[in-house]
Amino acid sequence: STFTGLGLDPLIVTHLSSKLNISKPTSIQRSALPALLSSSPEDTSSRDVFIQSQTGSGKTLSFLLPIIQDLLPLSTHSYIDRSIGTLAIIIAPTRELAKQISDVLESLLQLRLRPPDEAPDAESTGPRLTRWLVSGLLTGGSTRAHEKARLRKGCPILVSTPGRLLDHLQNTASFNVGKCRWLVLDEADRLMELGFEESIQGIIKGLEGRRKLALKAVEEGKSMEVGGWDWERRRRTILC
Ligand code: AMP
Repeated sequence: STFTGLGLDPLIVTHLSSKLNISKPTSIQRSALPALLSSSPEDTSSRDVFIQSQTGSGKTLSFLLPIIQDLLPLSTHSYIDRSIGTLAIIIAPTRELAKQISDVLESLLQLRLRPPDEAPDAESTGPRLTRWLVSGLLTGGSTRAHEKARLRKGCPILVSTPGRLLDHLQNTASFNVGKCRWLVLDEADRLMELGFEESIQGIIKGLEGRRKLALKAVEEGKSMEVGGWDWERRRRTILC
């Protein structure tokens, strides 16, 4: 099977093969992409997704590609809406992992959009996706004031470690998550092992107000229970 066959937008497929030299989906991508690309936000049964796979299996792209495709329509606006706030949040257990995810995300956001008058087979010369989809990395690596300034300018896609994210949700007034559509907990089992359960619950609360979350760590060979997650419509939680 191909990325196109899995429902990925041709613009993204071309960027993957020509710029990142990725042309054939891995096994985890073959199962995750159709589920995440087609899942209707209104369909509560498919809203939360649990991806279990080995490291090195292509897990990162299996959640980043659907997020980018979901947010792609933003780039059809001629203006850049700074008030849109944050639409996708990816949480990773360590700074190093967050940085790795952010690097992959950046390479995807280099995608150039195709102006309407351009032949579909020519290399696109349109504006890059980064113009609309600004990504931010919040890991406590820079000063809080610097991160706040970044959030104030608007950051549609965020990659963060749990502690710093919770800090901003509680203390940064201009951090707007009212329209957030995606929450990814990468290495959810490690997040729990490292003692971030309370922070994660705080984050969910910060995103949702009164909502409750029942989160179970994944033990080797066991599946993670995702029942009991109570998310507002249009938001999708991915556990990896
Ligand atoms: P991950 O499991 O997300 O850490 O990915 C491990 C490595 O596999 C990364 O270097 C990716 O760039 C690479 N990768 C991910 N998907 C593919 C693919 N479909 N074809 C070839 N390499 C891939």
